[in-house]
Amino acid sequence: MNIAIIGAGLAGLTCAYELRNSGHAVDVYEATERIGGKLHTVAFAAGPTDMGAEAFIARRHDAVDFFTELGLAGSLVEPSGLGSLVYIDGETRPLPRGGIMGVPSSSVGVAHLVSPEAASLIDAESDAPGIDWEIGGDVNVGKLVRERYGDEIVDHVVSALLGGVYSCTADDLGLRATIPQLAEEFDRLASAGPVHLSAAVRNLEQARAELPTGQGAVFNSFRDGYQELYEALAEKSGANIYVDAFISGIAKEGEGYRLNGGEDEVYDRVILAVPAPTAALLLKKVAPDVAEAVAPVKLADSVVVGMRFADDTGLPDNSGILVAAGTENVTAKAFTFSSRKWPHLAERGGALVRASFGRFGDTIAVRASEDDLVDWALDDLLTITGFDGRAAGLEEIYVQRWFGGLPRYDETHLATVAKVSALLRAVPGIDVTGAWVGGVGVPAVIANAREVARRK
Ligand SMILES: Cc1cc2nc3c(=O)[nH]c(=O)nc-3n(C[C@H](O)[C@H](O)[C@H](O)COP(=O)(O)OP(=O)(O)OC[C@H]3O[C@@H](n4cnc5c(N)ncnc54)[C@H](O)[C@@H]3O)c2cc1C
Repeated sequence: MNIAIIGAGLAGLTCAYELRNSGHAVDVYEATERIGGKLHTVAFAAGPTDMGAEAFIARRHDAVDFFTELGLAGSLVEPSGLGSLVYIDGETRPLPRGGIMGVPSSSVGVAHLVSPEAASLIDAESDAPGIDWEIGGDVNVGKLVRERYGDEIVDHVVSALLGGVYSCTADDLGLRATIPQLAEEFDRLASAGPVHLSAAVRNLEQARAELPTGQGAVFNSFRDGYQELYEALAEKSGANIYVDAFISGIAKEGEGYRLNGGEDEVYDRVILAVPAPTAALLLKKVAPDVAEAVAPVKLADSVVVGMRFADDTGLPDNSGILVAAGTENVTAKAFTFSSRKWPHLAERGGALVRASFGRFGDTIAVRASEDDLVDWALDDLLTITGFDGRAAGLEEIYVQRWFGGLPRYDETHLATVAKVSALLRAVPGIDVTGAWVGGVGVPAVIANAREVARRK
């Protein structure tokens, strides 16, 4: 069998690796001049530095097992465990450790982040009539939390936390896709009686408290960056990987498919491991109904500015800081103090900071010049933390624009993906995978790609 994979990001490379011993010929086509997609490790003078994803949830044992299978267990490193901050109304405050994605069960733990009126609203939620919840249903996260707890907790905490993962505010995200455990707890409560947000979060907090301790860090990273992973996948896959190979269309030929921009081959199977809008374009001729079903999936642009300073004096002793949604006079949405967060990066000396910009609907990645982005990163860092990056000796800068960085997982997204999967069953030899199909996190992308590759 001849198999083509379009896209050499994490999903495409994982598929290629999964097919390595299948006895099939595998060609991977990558539009850009490098592999890895949203995983991109850049060679800073002080050492390899990630400008896309920088960590993964290590509590997903399937991911850790997979990295072990690849021979990379020795490369995994843990964070320092330092807490994070949030910048609200001109002040930095500690992020709460309780709650679920910033959604609290009561005002205890968030009283320092909202006004007394907002805190009272949160505590009164359990006395309000229950949520009108349909078992198996979904809701917009922002709408839900605003209705139950008011706007402040959404803008100050929930959007800031979710924005760090999805590049979207809570108002652009669906509950079941982004906080699935909360949607499932609503289902459970609804089967027995009224549904309250505070009760659901409290139940989840209790379940978390009962988990055995000593499971290691929640997040891990790769000592020399994600290039360790994408290079291992590429090498061990044994696939033919073509870079600078933009595929512009797929045409049916007999029982197989020919790729516009690919080798002179007819493929029995084509796996699309590209962002949703590209998948929609590529499927237009061979599966127009699937292309139409994929079309509603939208992407969020973002920018990461990596900065290395000679001196780390004055950089807060925290892993990073989120900026509350709607904060005026600050352009960045978050800073990661990478050399504080990761001991292996601290060993390099100096300070490494990543500034992040852009949420869904924001055009900053397209409109801002490189000079402006660096100036905003330095100015915002000074405003928020008092750390003067210009005085600290800015040694290296890397500006990474992520056009279409992440798919928007709104409250229609899971239904869209289910519809696409159902329609694809009628199109033999074509599959889709990637961050928009099975979840944006590295472990989720890997799990979905492996499952798709194994399909006959
Ligand atoms: C800034 C940022 C930070 C992140 N941080 C984390 C994190 O810390 N932890 C975590 O778990 N996840 C993180 N993620 C998410 C994670 O990195 C991504 O979800 C994942 O890497 C996506 O992999 P993918 O293969 O689905 O897509 P992509 O990486 O987008 O790969 C798709 C590939 O297809 C190629 N392509 C597109 N069109 C064509 C075409 N027509 N022909 C040929 N090739 C084509 C693209 O060039 C690209 O290489 C982050 C994402 C971003 C943007």
